[in-house]
Amino acid sequence: MNASPLAITNQKGGVGKTTTAVNLAASLAQLGRRVLLVDLDPQGNATMGSGVDKRELTHTVYHLLLGQCSEARVRVSSEKGGYVLWPANRDLAGAEVELVSQPRREYRLREALERVADQYDQVIIDCPPALNLLTVNALVAAHAVLIPMQCEYYALEGLSDLVNTVKRVKAKLNPGLYIDGVLRVMFDPRNTLAQHVSDELKRHFGSKVLDTVVPRNVRLAEAPSHGLPVLVYDRSSKGAQAYLRLAEEILTRQRDARN
Ligand code: ATP
Ligand code: MG
Repeated sequence: MNASPLAITNQKGGVGKTTTAVNLAASLAQLGRRVLLVDLDPQGNATMGSGVDKRELTHTVYHLLLGQCSEARVRVSSEKGGYVLWPANRDLAGAEVELVSQPRREYRLREALERVADQYDQVIIDCPPALNLLTVNALVAAHAVLIPMQCEYYALEGLSDLVNTVKRVKAKLNPGLYIDGVLRVMFDPRNTLAQHVSDELKRHFGSKVLDTVVPRNVRLAEAPSHGLPVLVYDRSSKGAQAYLRLAEEILTRQRDARN
């Protein structure tokens, strides 16, 4: 698929997955890419953060996974973000149970994306905070996994579960899958513990740790309450500039991986 799906995953809650998904989607769109953002979390935070009211939706990514409607009925455009969104709301919580008895349950997102691959240059998938069937669908659909991490004491805990899940999916369902890479978010360089954890990450993951670091920035936390990516809410903020740099770094890494 030429749309290089990137799954933003970490089973820990509140580590900056959705903030990264929304702002990376908007930044890639700003750089001229045709972007699809997939909200794969029943919380629907990426949907709300894209300026789309999850409570008013009749068709969501849930219906796509269950094969109940066409992509055309589900897609909405995030006008401010400049990308297309497959939205989600609490309906998606039922997918886990309903898919269990269905054939090819791990491939549902992949197959939905394959049907529209030529329409997008980049697909970003926002995962829920769990290693469940929804996350497995994201990992099966993805080319690469991006792991946002807060550089805190407990950050590394649980990381091996995630890495093992990626390995299992790679071995059984999606041989091309790889981690690219680990993104340090909510970073405070004055905090010595953060520096220490950051060094640990580099020792462990080497060049998979992205050069771009996303600082703790209040504008990033405010933007979703206005349904806006930070790029539109406050373009000059440190958060907006970091996500633009991240988009550039990811495009460079994709070019290097192809060559
Ligand atoms: P969940 O696991 O519940 O889906 P998540 O991993 O998607 O959470 P976010 O929703 O992106 O995490 O972020 C958690 C909270 O931290 C949010 O209130 C968000 O606005 C805030 N936040 C995220 N990144 C930053 C940052 N760099 N600076 C300041 N606040 C941030
Ligand atoms: Mg989230």
